[in-house]
Amino acid sequence: MATITRSAVGYYADFFVYPLVLIALVMTTILSTSASDPLLWIVAVLAGLFAWTLAEYIIHRVILHNVVYFRDLHDQHHASPTELIGTPIWMSSSILIVAVLLPSWWLFGVPYGSGFTFGMTAGYLTYSFAHHVLHHWRMLPGHPLYGWKRQHALHHFRHDEGNFGVTTLFWDHVFGTALKAQKPSQRQS
Ligand SMILES: [Zn+2]
Ligand SMILES: [Zn+2]
Repeated sequence: MATITRSAVGYYADFFVYPLVLIALVMTTILSTSASDPLLWIVAVLAGLFAWTLAEYIIHRVILHNVVYFRDLHDQHHASPTELIGTPIWMSSSILIVAVLLPSWWLFGVPYGSGFTFGMTAGYLTYSFAHHVLHHWRMLPGHPLYGWKRQHALHHFRHDEGNFGVTTLFWDHVFGTALKAQKPSQRQS
């Protein structure tokens, strides 16, 4: 049984608020006075999704494992994976507005900037939901997602060593931090 350390409302807020944000970003694109090509908009979304996977890797490896406050909170998650410890929505939404939405509007214009932000937000929502699934859904050997669950369990056991990606290990392979389950003593840098 999970212990509620913050509040269940805070923990689950992502799953209710961010789908509405995604709808708002589509509406912003449709109602924008600047014309846009739907195909290019989809390219912007895909670019945002891809950028999210790198952000997910860097945030987890650099911030959650090294920066005070975040590291303490994340250590609690490593120690008690089923506790409802997550990123507060005021924090994730502020970062999305300041570091993603406003710069991408400025760089790419409102329609494509909204598309890029849609991709980043959808990536974050996928990560948030995927991480919940990893720790709260029962997956035994033979389950189609069992291998994926094991990859993250390895990260929980070996902390700073690797498997920082949650939705994908792509960047762990790029940066040489993918962990091999069969050789627990072999450390990779
Ligand atoms: Zn975890
Ligand atoms: Zn971690």
